[in-house]
Amino acid sequence: MFNRILQLLYPKRCGACDLPLLESENFLCTACRIELPKPGLFLNRPNWLSAKFDGLFPFADVHAFFLFSPGSKVQHLMHQIKYKGQQDLGRFVGSWCGAHLKTNIRIISYDLIIPIPLFSKKRQERGYNQAACIAQGISEKTQIPWNDNVLRRRTQSQSLVGQNRISRYETLSNVFEVVDSKSIIGKHVLLVDDTLTTGATFLAAAEKIKAAGASEISFLALAALK
Ligand SMILES: [Zn+2]
Repeated sequence: MFNRILQLLYPKRCGACDLPLLESENFLCTACRIELPKPGLFLNRPNWLSAKFDGLFPFADVHAFFLFSPGSKVQHLMHQIKYKGQQDLGRFVGSWCGAHLKTNIRIISYDLIIPIPLFSKKRQERGYNQAACIAQGISEKTQIPWNDNVLRRRTQSQSLVGQNRISRYETLSNVFEVVDSKSIIGKHVLLVDDTLTTGATFLAAAEKIKAAGASEISFLALAALK
């Protein structure tokens, strides 16, 4: 009863379209669950996503769960997860993505999930790392272990805004550091981030993880810009 009154006074809202949720709905409304654009996992290559990395790095797979476009419901969803303290929403969507991953047999080839870290000041300000929430959700559904203590990110000297892929990559090339190489030697690592735009962040992290001894690297972004 008390919950019902609370829900009337402060309705829970859909993380993507912001409309009030029905009592039976959690985090996302039914319409958004059906309609949010999902390009599909394990796409045949080459495709628009693999084109961001082909010829630059010898990766195994690249996945995006949602298609990102400016001003869209997916953008609203990502904003809630990144900046509005909605850690549970990130974990929920991560677990939804994990359920889709699990339906594909090739999932068994991933040994370890590593979320792209934030640098420590940003992590402190935000109180959490959104990529870690997503990684945790994926891990819960797939049973693939995740570890956010392998990779560290230093403060980068320049902002990435307005830079093209090559200069972004140069700026990022030394911000990542593997601090626990024992955990990744010989493993197929699935690197997870919230958003993929140019791919420079994934590339910079992947180079370091591969150099520290991982056997293969794959990428998964919750949302990617085409
Ligand atoms: Zn909705």
